[in-house]
Amino acid sequence: MRAVRLTRWGGPPVMTEAERPSPRGEEVLVQVEAAGLCGSDLHVIDAAPDALPYRTPFTLGHEVAGRVTERGPDATGPETGERVVVYGPWGCGRCGHCAAGAENYCDRRSELDASRAGTGVGLGRDGGLAEFLLVPSGRLLLPIRDLSPAQAAPLSDAGLTSYHAIAGIRPTLDATAGGGARVAVIGVGGLGHLAVQILRATTSAEVLAVDVREEALALAADSGAHFSTLVRPDTARTLRSRAGGVGVDAVLDFVGTPATLRLGVSAVRPGGALALVGSGGGELLVRKPGALPPGLRISLPFWGTRPDLEEVIALAHTGALTVTIEQFLLSDALDAISALRSGGVYGRAVVVP
Ligand code: NAD
Ligand code: ZN
Ligand code: ZN
Repeated sequence: MRAVRLTRWGGPPVMTEAERPSPRGEEVLVQVEAAGLCGSDLHVIDAAPDALPYRTPFTLGHEVAGRVTERGPDATGPETGERVVVYGPWGCGRCGHCAAGAENYCDRRSELDASRAGTGVGLGRDGGLAEFLLVPSGRLLLPIRDLSPAQAAPLSDAGLTSYHAIAGIRPTLDATAGGGARVAVIGVGGLGHLAVQILRATTSAEVLAVDVREEALALAADSGAHFSTLVRPDTARTLRSRAGGVGVDAVLDFVGTPATLRLGVSAVRPGGALALVGSGGGELLVRKPGALPPGLRISLPFWGTRPDLEEVIALAHTGALTVTIEQFLLSDALDAISALRSGGVYGRAVVVP
């Protein structure tokens, strides 16, 4: 089968022939029908040797949907023929967090990293940029019923991570006096445009979107943002004044560079919340007394839980969540990665067979 693999750190991914896996024990083989590309794929591809606890080579692709084609003799979960999406963070499967479906926060993460076991599908483990994907257990599959695989795949990371990040700022939004919370969404790409939709569908907050690209502001408006602005030297002031002069109640930073973290911290009100989602390498100094707004709650969400993913899929079934996608054939997957790198993707790039 064809597969897009990272064969060495620093090298571009390559399209190769790989052996089609056969499920044993609890494993399940999924015929891939869609795989989303994520900003994180670029961070992984560009990582320095030893920066990530993964062994090369492995197949990329961590947002995957498809059809169950073969089950190992001890497999549980969806039956052969069922359409599924893959719950991507793969933990030990046995600790308290994993038992509760929060494999993104597996208690044994440091052990797994020490043995270079990988973080999940397509992240140190073979992923879905291939014709078939071997999933370790049926517990990592969720039925998608009549959702299309191309819609479902991005829900498993772009949708799930956004949903989980919003869950982290929800107490702050709920506590906002008078109910009229304002949220700044920085970076309206694959994750950000779904965050805007999830905020609109599940909160009464006013959504203020920020990006460096005009097309991203159009996507923000399409996704339901109330206001959007390009990044300018006075963007923090613009956001604060849109938020009654005191500052926004929460910031979702889907970029995470030094510049966006500075912007977020200058735009948020005392007692507000900042969720850092993007892996842009920015840093904040946490110190008292210090420069951060008093009472600021900072969260560092990673991916999401299986129950979160169930809720995201349920939201998509109600029609409240629609992924804007650009489709590429698997044979053009390397071009799709280049398009993502050059900022030329509107919404999410999704690779189909
Ligand atoms: P994307 O490329 O689809 O979107 C990024 C958006 O940010 C683009 O619209 C881009 O124009 C915008 N942007 C870039 N620089 C900006 C700046 N200085 N100010 C404002 N906007 C700017 O990427 P994505 O797939 O949505 O991923 C976004 C980030 O989230 C990446 O860093 C990725 O690694 C990270 N991520 C984190 C998790 C997690 O679990 N924490 C999960 C998935 C992705
Ligand atoms: Zn991702
Ligand atoms: Zn675990």
